[in-house]
Amino acid sequence: MQKADYDLIIAGGGPAGLTAGLYAARARLRTLLVEKMAPGGQAATTFYIENYPGFAQGISGPDLTQAMEEQAKRFGLEVTYGEVKGLSSRKPFWELEVEDRKVSAKAVIVATGVEPRKLGVPGEETLRGRGVSYCATCDGPFFKDQDIGVIGGGDSAVEEALYLTRFAKRVYLVHRRDALRAEKILQERALENPKIEILWDTVVTKVVGDSGVEGLELQNVKTQGTRSLKVGGVFFYVGLLSNAGFLRGTLNLDDQGYVLTDDTMATSAVGIFAAGDVRKKLLRQIATAVGDGAMAAFAAERYIESGKWP
Ligand code: NAP
Repeated sequence: MQKADYDLIIAGGGPAGLTAGLYAARARLRTLLVEKMAPGGQAATTFYIENYPGFAQGISGPDLTQAMEEQAKRFGLEVTYGEVKGLSSRKPFWELEVEDRKVSAKAVIVATGVEPRKLGVPGEETLRGRGVSYCATCDGPFFKDQDIGVIGGGDSAVEEALYLTRFAKRVYLVHRRDALRAEKILQERALENPKIEILWDTVVTKVVGDSGVEGLELQNVKTQGTRSLKVGGVFFYVGLLSNAGFLRGTLNLDDQGYVLTDDTMATSAVGIFAAGDVRKKLLRQIATAVGDGAMAAFAAERYIESGKWP
């Protein structure tokens, strides 16, 4: 009988994928994890993580995710790099298109996570990498002693605004409403931080600059009044987009493109499971991603051992 290259392929190397990899490797499944860039996902771009249990003083995102990778590899997880471009049925297996090669497996766990949403205002794309950023941990140190804008009012915006106060002279948190969405403890810290000024009920209409960001055009949504704000950099945190586009037509997704699963992480396609932020779920956290990863690997193992693959 024809053989699959692997028992299990995991697409995505954030906390969900790495946890699935750990459990699958310990279950002695021949497992390949495919990661687009560096393992760790969004968590690896977070400077400090305070709400992942077990680290009383918190832990840096890169340290936590590197430890997760090391732990999974210690039990035999194989990791390869490349973008997963497609997933198709090659009965009785599934075949993943990774860059220009194809790899097959009896089961697949999709843990491709999310990416930052673009606001779509003029100047955002043209000045990307020249003052416009979506990653404070990566780019924050470039803005030492400058004024910075952070756009959004969720956990990401508030957490990263707080982080940026290490470098910036002043951080303007621009939020479209009069209440933040972020965790209460983050709100308290932002409100108490003398370096953070919150611009309530305000939206960005343009990022201004030629060779680099020089400022923002803002509008108050209540008064319709406009103003210019001088900043040397701007960080957008206006939500996330699911990285499940390559699955459209193969799996059932919700109207925002998140993968629908049952409580064993099984998707609408037999033999494909999903875990972590890419899944439709109420709470996107590292703590929930690792739970998804463990469950998906366990369910995939059961499925593979049942021998019932189509
Ligand atoms: P989010 O929770 O979706 O928040 C996005 C923010 O951007 C909201 O404040 C939203 O305003 C604003 N926004 C959206 N569209 C906008 C527009 N067109 N113009 C202006 N503002 C706009 O995204 P997130 O903060 O990246 O968080 C995503 C998920 O990751 C959440 O589940 C979050 O809990 C989790 N996360 C957790 C942590 C942590 O636990 N420390 C850290 C980071 C992320 P409104 O409030 O008015 O909708």
